[in-house]
Amino acid sequence: MIIDNLAEFASKRFGQNFLKDHRYIDRIIEAMSDDSLPIAEIGPGLGDLTASLLATRQHVTAFEVDKRLCALLEKHFEKERDAGRFELHCGDVLAHEEGLVPLKEPYRLVSNLPYYIATRIILKALRDERCKEIIVMVQKEVAEKFAARSGERSFSALSVLAESCGKATLLFEVPPEAFVPAPKVTSAVLQIKKRHHLHDRGFEDFLKTAFAQPRKTLLKNLSARFEKSKIETIFETLTLSTKLRPHQVETVQYQTLYRLLKGERFYGRESTGTETTDTDKKQRNKSGA
Ligand code: SAM
Repeated sequence: MIIDNLAEFASKRFGQNFLKDHRYIDRIIEAMSDDSLPIAEIGPGLGDLTASLLATRQHVTAFEVDKRLCALLEKHFEKERDAGRFELHCGDVLAHEEGLVPLKEPYRLVSNLPYYIATRIILKALRDERCKEIIVMVQKEVAEKFAARSGERSFSALSVLAESCGKATLLFEVPPEAFVPAPKVTSAVLQIKKRHHLHDRGFEDFLKTAFAQPRKTLLKNLSARFEKSKIETIFETLTLSTKLRPHQVETVQYQTLYRLLKGERFYGRESTGTETTDTDKKQRNKSGA
C-alpha cells in the first residue's frame, strides 16, 4: 500500500515503524517451515508482510489497533477476505483475555511487533497452548534476552521461560534504515519453536525473584523470598555453588530449584539429564511408565 508522506502518517503512540525493505520480509517468509499452520499477524500496518504471507500461506488472521489502517487493509485485501483467506480484527490485541488471540486452532505467530508491547505479546504467546511457533521482529535487545543461553550475559528470566517452551533463536538483525520512519534502535527477528507452553505463573514469579538483581548472587536474590538455610540445603543437594550469579544457572536447574522450593522431593539426576520430582513420578505412575 502506498501512503504519501508515510513518516508523517505513522503514529508514535502505536509504535508504527513500517518495514519497507522487502529483502527482510522475504527472509521472514523463508524462516517459516513448509506446513499449513494458519498464521496470526499482530499489527499488519500497511500490509506489506501480510501480502507476502498471503502469497505463500492459505490463511492469515490479522489484529490491528489503528482504525485508519483497518479501513485501508479491509479494502486492500478484499479479494482474500471474500475468499475466506484473510480475516481482520480491529482493536487492541492485548484486550483478549483467553490466549493471545481468539483463534481456536493451532497457529503460528508471524509479525513485525509494536515494540512498546513486544515482550508482553511474546509472553502471552508462550502461555498460549494453541500458538506453536513465534517468528517476530522486535528490538534486538529483546530478541537477545529471549534467545540467550545459560552463561551468556543476556541470559535472563525471559531466556529461561523461552527455553522452558522450546528453542529460541535470533535469526538475523535488521538495521533502522529498513523501516519508515526509521526507529532509533537495531531490530532483530526472533524465532521460538514451541514444544510446551507456560502454564504456571508461580514459575514466572519465581524467576522474577531469581533475576531481580542480575549482578548479585542467585542465593542473595532468592533469599528475599525464601528462607536462606532452605535455599542453601537445596543448593547443596543439587551441587550448585552459592556463588553463582543468576545468568550462570541452567534452565533445567531453575525448574528443579522451583519445584524443590515449593516443597517437592528430589529423586536425583536421571541419565536423560532431567530432574525427577514428585510431580514427574505421579505423572509416570498415572501413565503406567
Ligand atoms: N507489520 C507492519 C510492517 O511490518 O510494516 C507494521 C509494523 S508496526 C512496527 C506495528 C503495528 O502494530 C502497527 O500497525 C500498529 O498500529 C500496530 N499496533 C500497535 N499496538 C497494537 C495493539 N495494541 N494491538 C494491535 N495492533 C497494534
